[in-house]
Amino acid sequence: SQRVVIIGAGIVGTNIADELISRGWSNITVVEQGPLSMPGGSTSHAPGLVFQINPSKTMSAFAQYTVEKLLSLECFNQVGGLEVAETPERLEELKRKHGYGASWGIKSHLLSADECCQIYPLLSKEVVRGGLFIPTDGLALAAAAVQKLIERTSKAGVRYIEKTPVTGIQQDSGRVTGVLTKNRGAIPADLVISCGGLWGVELGAMIDLPIPLQPMEHQYVKTTAIPTRKGVNPPNWASLPILRHQDRDLYYREHGDQMGIGFYGHRPMPVVAASLGETPEHVSDDNMPSRCAFTPKDFEPAWKLSRDLLPALRETEVATGFNGIMSFTPDGGPLIGTAPNLDGFFVAEAVWVTHSAGVARAVAQLLTTGRSELDIADCDLSRFEQVQLSPAYVKETCQQGFVEVYDIIHPLQPRDSPRALRTSPFYARQRELGAFFLEAGGWERPQWYEANSKLLAAVPDKWKPVPRDSWSAQFYSPIAAAEAWKTRTAAALFDLTSIRHLEVSGPGAASLLQALTTNDISSTPVGRVTFTLLLDLKGGIISDIFVTRLSQDTFQLAVNGPLDFKYFSQEAKKQTKKSPERWTQVRDITGGTCCLGLWGHLAKEVMAPVTLDDVSEASLPFSHAKKIHISGIPATITRLSFVGEPGWEICTSADNGLRLWDALMQSGQKHGLIAAGRSAFEALRLETGFRSFGADMSSEYNPFEAGVNYVIDPSKTGYVGCEAIKKLSQTQPQKRLRCLTIDDGRSVVLGKEPVYVDGKVGGYVTSAAFGYTVGKPIAHTYLPASVHDGDSVEIEYFGRRIKATVTPEPLFGLSKRQTAN
Ligand code: FAD
Repeated sequence: SQRVVIIGAGIVGTNIADELISRGWSNITVVEQGPLSMPGGSTSHAPGLVFQINPSKTMSAFAQYTVEKLLSLECFNQVGGLEVAETPERLEELKRKHGYGASWGIKSHLLSADECCQIYPLLSKEVVRGGLFIPTDGLALAAAAVQKLIERTSKAGVRYIEKTPVTGIQQDSGRVTGVLTKNRGAIPADLVISCGGLWGVELGAMIDLPIPLQPMEHQYVKTTAIPTRKGVNPPNWASLPILRHQDRDLYYREHGDQMGIGFYGHRPMPVVAASLGETPEHVSDDNMPSRCAFTPKDFEPAWKLSRDLLPALRETEVATGFNGIMSFTPDGGPLIGTAPNLDGFFVAEAVWVTHSAGVARAVAQLLTTGRSELDIADCDLSRFEQVQLSPAYVKETCQQGFVEVYDIIHPLQPRDSPRALRTSPFYARQRELGAFFLEAGGWERPQWYEANSKLLAAVPDKWKPVPRDSWSAQFYSPIAAAEAWKTRTAAALFDLTSIRHLEVSGPGAASLLQALTTNDISSTPVGRVTFTLLLDLKGGIISDIFVTRLSQDTFQLAVNGPLDFKYFSQEAKKQTKKSPERWTQVRDITGGTCCLGLWGHLAKEVMAPVTLDDVSEASLPFSHAKKIHISGIPATITRLSFVGEPGWEICTSADNGLRLWDALMQSGQKHGLIAAGRSAFEALRLETGFRSFGADMSSEYNPFEAGVNYVIDPSKTGYVGCEAIKKLSQTQPQKRLRCLTIDDGRSVVLGKEPVYVDGKVGGYVTSAAFGYTVGKPIAHTYLPASVHDGDSVEIEYFGRRIKATVTPEPLFGLSKRQTAN
């Protein structure tokens, strides 16, 4: 088998070696700069708390598998996890977390203050209002697990080389060929997996790969013995649950009769790993590169707060403390995946002990089978935009991530800074209209326009927005109702610039697209738009895209994000290498283009005065594109809609954007044209049954389950995932994406809430919005195929059950096939 070199023998590197070996790989070498008995990375001092429930399904699944594996290694002390609330807001957050637990299959119990104190008698009733208990959480014996994994994998043939820093990566013609070490020369390799933890940036720099990771100091102390806990636990052992007091940025675990206290409430202290110096020959608690000197002043607030929460600590002192170093990323997720600039170089970094075995399993699945059973798009190393890779951006956002690590974050909450990194040419006009912006991928995206508030008085009763609870009312304005109403009854302009556009060109362009997509591209005529899917080998959906044929050899693609760009670029490279006469170029043209959706039944009245070209349905039917001039501006328009209304997507180059906006707005004035934001867009999208990639679709679902099999050409063969699709088409899906409408007509959910069928969790909400046209909140969810239209289900929202009905789609307008294709 191929020669694998893993850099780093922390909890991640050793787990990956183990997962690869168990899948039959051999020829694996792990190179570690420190001594194997205590390598000196973050794992060597990690207190090992494992709280499994996370808003992310994938992260929770990583944690569940880590617990399973640590139990099998006998390196897990399953004391349970208790999260307590001091504030009413946290109490509500814990209810939400309980919902996530139910959605992801992790049992948890909401507790009263008294129940918390029964489980954890050291708690002060004065401080605690209630809590959430997760019986399967506990303590990882991370350093011991590493030793067991080293022993087990060594026996299975993995070669470990200690005290050997990797100093360079060897490559030839864009492929990894080995690693260079400081003291043992070169080690040849076909695959290098960088598991260097907080040293990730330095390892990435060896191949000019920016790793968006920031090592940060984080304080941890041990108290002297708590008199009442003497003799209760063996040394360093725990019997009380692990405890989190997130309102105060604190967590706790027992070490025998001492208490360990972790604190995130201090000032951010970023570290440059390169400045830590060489790992010593003998690593010890007092001499370890990942441990910095304790800064007692920073711990003072934690000490006071801890003694308020756990009064027994008033009889103790701080015995020892250190500032440990751990890795943060701009969005808090791990970094997993292949380097875009060097074949055979793989990264698995910024991983907590909590997620380590889960991440390792995903990496091993990816490497051995080409796909991970969990959707890891949100963890992909290449998920960041170019602007998000600058060292300044990484440093600022990671510091913010440190400050907010235990904060209650609303799913729509944008960061305060850095902002306005990417703006469409319409930005100035949008600001004039009082746009409220949210941010995605660095783009400023209007959510609604304050200028439309004047429409609220005119909104008919049927469309009037219903009052919302305080959580779903955040980052929301009733103005969205007026914008949805205007879209359905007149016309609206939506800024679609942030949708990523690629240009795929060259003599191999058609064959590349033909090989990667589910619909027939090769025979589509110029001017035709094809809505199609990208699948993995098992038929999981990895993207949904629009392909417009601009000429015989040129296609414009509307895709989902950086990962699609990476995928097309890599596949184009492979094809070009294999058959140079079929070379293909893939360019990301997003920054140079801008795009508007002009939709509504008056869209044609808006368009008529500003173009001399024929844009009638006869000349430009659904799913067709055409080059025209709008007020003299060259534009490509496509008859396409995401909101179930007639109209066009209009694209031009960025320099023409402002003039395009002005021309349309001016023309639309007498027809009631408004600018509308994403809040209305989401509502209209759900009403038409259009699926959103990343929320309603991911690699964990196939097109039959997601209800998008209508974009598969059944006669087509030879594309990625085709074999799987042929098999899947012979069977009935076990689960299907369904549309729910909420019975009380007012309870808006936000996503990820568990959905109960006959009292048992049957799925979770993948996306949701208030459907203004239908006068009811709407939610998408995957449910067992045995659930039928008209069946009643329940959604758990803040601990209460909301009744909903499975409703046939689309709720509004044209069928999916007509709107999308
Ligand atoms: P590491 O353990 O750092 O391993 C990386 C290895 O790579 C190191 O051994 C290093 O020597 C080696 N290496 C680096 N560069 C080279 C090179 N050039 N050549 C050769 N070898 C190299 N997580 C939790 O889940 N729960 C907790 O309660 C928890 N508490 C924490 C408390 C503190 C104070 C800190 C600092 C972290 C805590 N963490 C916790 C985070 C957790 O410890 C880390 O995320 C995890 O240990 C990282 O594992 P790793 O294998 O990626 O990195």
